[in-house]
Amino acid sequence: MEQTLLLIKPSAIQRGLIGEVITRIEKKGLKLTGMKMMNLDDAIINEHYAHLVQKPFFPIIKNSMQATPVIACCIEGIEAVQVVRALTGSTNGRNALPGTIRGDFSVSVLENIVHTSDSIENAKIEVKRFFCDNEIFSYKSANFDFTYSPDEI
Ligand code: UDP
Ligand code: MG
Repeated sequence: MEQTLLLIKPSAIQRGLIGEVITRIEKKGLKLTGMKMMNLDDAIINEHYAHLVQKPFFPIIKNSMQATPVIACCIEGIEAVQVVRALTGSTNGRNALPGTIRGDFSVSVLENIVHTSDSIENAKIEVKRFFCDNEIFSYKSANFDFTYSPDEI
């Protein structure tokens, strides 16, 4: 099973969308295996958004991510990285397709509700960045046998 990271950003927390985001993950059939509210310090944002540190708008991103705590979620499922990325929609909420989290709840590039890992490799790094081993939980979903076929697992 793959694991991927989802961050519920301050834009979702301030707009009362925590439940909407979690509901979409649950309804899709994905499993939450870790969840915590946390403040992001400069160090973790610099590391997490290292690909954007040199951009002129990086201070705006940092400010946005520190406006409130975020909620970090570890999500598990078959091909969970691509499944969650598809649920997320494209970066710019104005272009993101209706039906996606960003497409339904955002009209901004910056304030786009969630972060989600963009590759299997990055998902592994990002889950470890936000969670200690003992903060990830292993349990069987009661509906597992009706979520996947035997030959998928
Ligand atoms: N971002 C922004 N302006 C940009 C590009 C990115 O404000 O031109 C913000 C936006 O919140 C985005 C985050 O920086 O979600 C990380 O950017 P990335 O390109 O990794 O997009 P994502 O993977 O979140 O779709
Ligand atoms: Mg990204």
